Amino acid sequence: MIQQRLVNLYELMTTHCLDGIVVTKPESRQYFSGFAGSSGMLVISRQSQRLLTDFRYIEQAKQQAPLYQIVRHGAAIYDTLAETVKELGLARIGFESDFVTWEVYQKLSDCLGETELSPVKLDGLRIVKDHRELALLTKAVEIADSAFNQVLKMIRPGITELDIALELEYEMRKLGAEKPAFDTIVASGIRGALPHGLASSKVIEAGDFITIDFGAVFQGYHSDMTRTVVAGKATDKQREVYNIVLAAQLAGVKAVKAGKIGREVDQIARQVIADAGYSEYFGHGLGHGVGLFIHEEPRLSPSGDVKLAEGMVVSVEPGIYLPGWGGVRIEDLVVVSADGCTILTASSKDLIELG
Ligand code: ZN
Ligand code: ZN
Repeated sequence: MIQQRLVNLYELMTTHCLDGIVVTKPESRQYFSGFAGSSGMLVISRQSQRLLTDFRYIEQAKQQAPLYQIVRHGAAIYDTLAETVKELGLARIGFESDFVTWEVYQKLSDCLGETELSPVKLDGLRIVKDHRELALLTKAVEIADSAFNQVLKMIRPGITELDIALELEYEMRKLGAEKPAFDTIVASGIRGALPHGLASSKVIEAGDFITIDFGAVFQGYHSDMTRTVVAGKATDKQREVYNIVLAAQLAGVKAVKAGKIGREVDQIARQVIADAGYSEYFGHGLGHGVGLFIHEEPRLSPSGDVKLAEGMVVSVEPGIYLPGWGGVRIEDLVVVSADGCTILTASSKDLIELG
């Protein structure tokens, strides 16, 4: 798996006329080496792959990155980097321009002397997920689904949004998650009009719509799902808004297919909401790629210009947010395939009326 990822990296090096790349972004480091420790640098050339890390991680690095020669650095990692680059005879190396700060760039350029530095972006190489990644993403989704179904049982008027978030995070950890994929969103009643309303101390009241948006991280891979449930019986208006969002979500999922452009899928779901008269209340993109980052390419949004390909993983999450009333969002993760997509999220999308 790592071998194939390196082959793809060599192709990028050829395109950019590079004879090496220094990888510093933690997610790239994990992707191209397997090493999941929190400190280190990769120096990659066609002849040799080196992983520079410190005393704390030597054993872990040996286990997780068998294709790499592990180089232990002391207090001065940049000196070790300079020696490594010199030893490998690299004249022109790439650095991750979307991660390296100005300060780090100065250090790189000071320590590398004659070696030419060239900006590259590596995230595009991770946009299509391989089998190993799909297995990890599936596991992250399963953890979130199971936690959700557990926590549904305790949701009732009188508890707070924070109670729900804490319980979800606790369940996910028990099921093997390293941590939540992001700060858990629980937005009830009129707070549901806040698309990113973090769980607060607000008490759930009878009749509240509750939007719950959360996910798990499993071996570095994120999941992301949203369900909106009612604490009690839904009103006609709640049912109406819910059904529009659900119709848009189903249309969006149906539109996902290899060859489609991100914005085309967004438009199909957006049109369902517009036709129902709520276009101004759906102010965000339909979805986003998910992987080692919670938000990555491709975007399903009015400006999403990436053509979908088999193996990409995206969220489909339309919503309607009515100020002073509340909101609804429904979100699944799906894997793009040649003839459509496979939905990873298994929780029911029927309107759930609790208690
Ligand atoms: Zn989400
Ligand atoms: Zn999302």
